[in-house]
Amino acid sequence: MNGRMKQETPEQKWNRLKNQIHEGIAKAYPNPDRKGCLSHEHIVALAIRSADFDDTIEDDPQWQHVTHCSPCYSEYLEEFKSQRASKRSGKTK
Ligand SMILES: [Zn+2]
Repeated sequence: MNGRMKQETPEQKWNRLKNQIHEGIAKAYPNPDRKGCLSHEHIVALAIRSADFDDTIEDDPQWQHVTHCSPCYSEYLEEFKSQRASKRSGKTK
């Protein structure tokens, strides 16, 4: 009775990814020289896409950078939170 994988909702998937990512990234990739770092604009764009559960983001080189750079990741995380917050409050169920 338990052979079938339960389908994750996009939100569950994101939460899983986020937890995995968040554990390591915030300290695993110090980048004092900010080498190859994205502009704030790009980070905001990624936050918007991930807040919309855009799956294609996982193949995006910019996303790859953010998930391998602690400073960018912290910036992204702040944007992501505010994106989610504004979506929630702006939505009439
Ligand atoms: Zn960076």
